[in-house]
Amino acid sequence: MALKTKDDYLKSLGKLGTKVFLFGDQIKDWISHPVIRPSINSIAMTYELAHEVDYRDLFTATSHLTGKVINRFTHIQQSPDDLKKKVKMLRVMGQKTASCFQRCAGLDALNTMSAVTYEVDKAMGTKYHQRFNTFLEYMQGEDLVCSAAMTDPKGDRSLSPSKQKRPDQYLRIVKESKNGIVVRGAKAHITGAVNSHEALVMPTRAMGAEEKDYAISFAVPNDTKGMFFIYGRQPSDTRRLETGSMDIGNINFGGQEALIIFDNVFVPCERVFLKGEYQFCRRLVEQFAAFHRASYGGCKSGVADVLVGAATLIAEIQGTRTASHVRDKLVEMTHLTETLYAAGIASSAEGHELPSGSYAVNSLLANVCKLHVTRLPFEIVRLAQDVAGGILGTLPSEREFKHPEVGRYVQKYLEGVADIPSEVRFRIIRLIESMTLGTGAVCLLVESIHGAGSPQTQRIIIERETDWEFKKKLAKRIAGLD
Ligand code: SF4
Ligand code: FE
Repeated sequence: MALKTKDDYLKSLGKLGTKVFLFGDQIKDWISHPVIRPSINSIAMTYELAHEVDYRDLFTATSHLTGKVINRFTHIQQSPDDLKKKVKMLRVMGQKTASCFQRCAGLDALNTMSAVTYEVDKAMGTKYHQRFNTFLEYMQGEDLVCSAAMTDPKGDRSLSPSKQKRPDQYLRIVKESKNGIVVRGAKAHITGAVNSHEALVMPTRAMGAEEKDYAISFAVPNDTKGMFFIYGRQPSDTRRLETGSMDIGNINFGGQEALIIFDNVFVPCERVFLKGEYQFCRRLVEQFAAFHRASYGGCKSGVADVLVGAATLIAEIQGTRTASHVRDKLVEMTHLTETLYAAGIASSAEGHELPSGSYAVNSLLANVCKLHVTRLPFEIVRLAQDVAGGILGTLPSEREFKHPEVGRYVQKYLEGVADIPSEVRFRIIRLIESMTLGTGAVCLLVESIHGAGSPQTQRIIIERETDWEFKKKLAKRIAGLD
């Protein structure tokens, strides 16, 4: 089966015995859980759009391994055009879900491991690349999702992995046999962890010679023995447990992060893609970071498009749309949104071929893209809140809106421009609230600043990749100091 449908995806999740904890319980039917389901719907959209004629070119690709048509979310990019199409696809996904739709983290991890296993083999004489390709062919053929399980809990940040008081603060090998390895530790804040089929595990930082046991990459199915998931909370998540839907805002879609515990998990040799080659951890992490930092230019601009739309609607409903300062704010929101997108596209257009034959984004531009993402969505959010007004923090609940006694007052005093039902205003305010203060704020704010690395990590790469001598020479020449 090359291209799964949304239903195929849901069924395939149901076949896994993934162990999930939320609100103090192990959730057996986690696929239908109202807090978890929106994040599943977001990933499901990557399957739906691959079957729509209008999106087929963007959401499907030809596998470089098999020549078959596959979902682009499993594709190894073969040209700058592929890189650009990925960013465009992510923007569409952001527009359709107004949330983090998670699957791109795994896509970027697949591209990273495809490139890095090749380079490790060339330098060390290992056999990781073929192993990885076998895994990749399975992922593409079955149209599966993998999470990018990179971030370790890290314990005391001033200490390297091998110096931690508790050595499991970084995932590590605790036992080895001729058939495989046993690992222990955790991966934290993992996007789309629960609703993936597989976890593709990678090291989180550069490692030294004393950290060979931490220099590991592998993939395991989510229901592997010893593995379980602790679901991360989001602001206002329990509104999804209330009756009615008007107080939710983004009704169908959401993001998802979880803590993955690896409690002595066995990984067979054929699923191990790095084991002890500590010299390549930095390269691996930076390659993943570059791919994912460019991805943000697509997803965050798409999500911001929805917020610009919501701000425009609320201005129309409240009768402020033609005020010059409101028009200016909407223009500014658009300008910032397109800046994010432009940086994602630029880093893709300037992509280059890697030794493995696949393509990587321009790292400097990808880091500039992500550094913008750590700031511009905050301004976009601020402007949306400014346009919406203080009602964002004071709107009564759906129950009062529909209350037999006070409902007519709530509805009357929520009216704006004549002829627009007050329910429209209610729902748009809730959408802006959820995107900027509720569950969606994780995507637009927290994830924007910390996802794919916090701002300082981008600055480090921008400093390293800037040719300061070249720029000094330019200045000297212009100043007549040659
Ligand atoms: Fe994809 Fe954006 Fe979520 Fe990263 S933050 S997984 S790029 S939607
Ligand atoms: Fe993310």
